[in-house]
Amino acid sequence: MSWDFETDPPFQVKLDWADEFVRDEVEPLDLIWPGLEFAPLDETRRRVIEPLKDEVRRRKLWATHLGPDLGGEGYGQLKLSLLNEILGRSSWAPIVFGCQAPDTGNAEIIAHYGTPEQKKRYLRPLLDGEIFSCYSMTEPHAGSDPTMFTTRATRDGDEWVIDGWKFFSSNAKTSTFLIVMAVTNPDVSPYKGMSMFLVPSDTPGIDIVRNVGLAGEPAEEGSHALIHYDGVRVPTDALLGGEGQAFAIAQTRLGGGRIHHAMRTIGLARKAFDMMCERALSRKTQGSLLADKQFVQGYIADSYAQLMQFRLFVLYTAWSIDKHNDYRKVRKDIAAVKVLMPGVLHDIAWRATQVHGALGVSNEMPFHRMLLGASVLGLADGPTEVHKVTVARQVLRDHAPSDDLWPTQHLPKRLAAARAKYAEALEHEVGNL
Ligand SMILES: Cc1cc2nc3c(=O)[nH]c(=O)nc-3n(C[C@H](O)[C@H](O)[C@H](O)COP(=O)(O)OP(=O)(O)OC[C@H]3O[C@@H](n4cnc5c(N)ncnc54)[C@H](O)[C@@H]3O)c2cc1C
Repeated sequence: MSWDFETDPPFQVKLDWADEFVRDEVEPLDLIWPGLEFAPLDETRRRVIEPLKDEVRRRKLWATHLGPDLGGEGYGQLKLSLLNEILGRSSWAPIVFGCQAPDTGNAEIIAHYGTPEQKKRYLRPLLDGEIFSCYSMTEPHAGSDPTMFTTRATRDGDEWVIDGWKFFSSNAKTSTFLIVMAVTNPDVSPYKGMSMFLVPSDTPGIDIVRNVGLAGEPAEEGSHALIHYDGVRVPTDALLGGEGQAFAIAQTRLGGGRIHHAMRTIGLARKAFDMMCERALSRKTQGSLLADKQFVQGYIADSYAQLMQFRLFVLYTAWSIDKHNDYRKVRKDIAAVKVLMPGVLHDIAWRATQVHGALGVSNEMPFHRMLLGASVLGLADGPTEVHKVTVARQVLRDHAPSDDLWPTQHLPKRLAAARAKYAEALEHEVGNL
């Protein structure tokens, strides 16, 4: 019997250490250097951040999801999930632990599809935390339907020439390289006619037209680039994986990215939950604590149940990924978790905001960022609606239609069948009356 809800004691020791370390050493960074997580380290930040990363490496918690051959610990997704629950509380923590999006997903596809030269050039410094990367897929006219992408890569002798527009390419401005999805053969289905390229960010022809910010961010602080690729020339060895493999690579890339976001969301939602409970136990109105009001008790009970359900589903999905070692085999559950994620964070953060009253909606509490974060989770890596379609399609594969006019569970039909099955006993019963 192998169902078990306990963490191995040696790994629990590591988690306990990480919990304290993030609280004491890392969460303060969110307050002094907000929004600078993906900026190259200046001297001051390097003096603070590098020793923290070294400590994480010493504790064997650096890039734990990757195998030792890639500089990680090879702990897999389940252990990463338990760790990410802690890291999700802080925006700096994933950087300090070497597992930040979008670099984790980008590292994974280079590890999976890259040539030895590509790994040496891009993967090693990425894993060492020395450089940042960007995934450039969405276009201004099309996001959730990649078959509509038009950015084109044309072969010219020993080079590919990339032309087109990309939108919301996160961290392009601080990246060392971009992973660009482009049409390489417009004459076949998009599923076979698109490819991925590894493009150094300083290649001539890459024009970051503007860096779009999220709602509430000052205009100059945006980090989601609108990029014009204008005759960008890269050698043929810039191709990642084979020609026409972009869709397969994107599935690997986004499968990991989605579940990692879900793991961190547990941490953020729990932070909001803990804040709600503290406030409920601290604030009095109309003669009693908020904790004694039934509406507030309802908020707490609903939030607890929602968080527990979500956490167990995420852990189960992470366990399944480790078991199958293939994101595609766990696609249904990854998509289902992706569907739940924005709602869980939104509902819990909204209730926590409400319990804090006016203070909750002020800029002196972190709830507004959580609520915006919930909306972001419903879009980044594909909108909720598209993932629901994936879940439904995958679920329906395990079901069959009825070829009868009446459903299989139609009660009159089942009753007739049950009577036929036990006809002899029923006759006997009638005979005894
Ligand atoms: C914070 C953030 C960071 C991002 N980072 C990156 C990045 O680094 N690289 C990158 O390439 N992209 C990135 N994106 C873009 C993201 O992948 C897209 O926003 C997403 O795929 C949706 O595309 P869209 O915005 O063009 O919306 P659209 O495709 O225009 O869809 C709009 C809406 O239409 C509805 N819809 C769409 N399809 C369906 C359907 N089949 N059925 C029913 N309704 C549907 C949904 O409500 C959807 O939200 C990022 C987005 C955000 C918010």
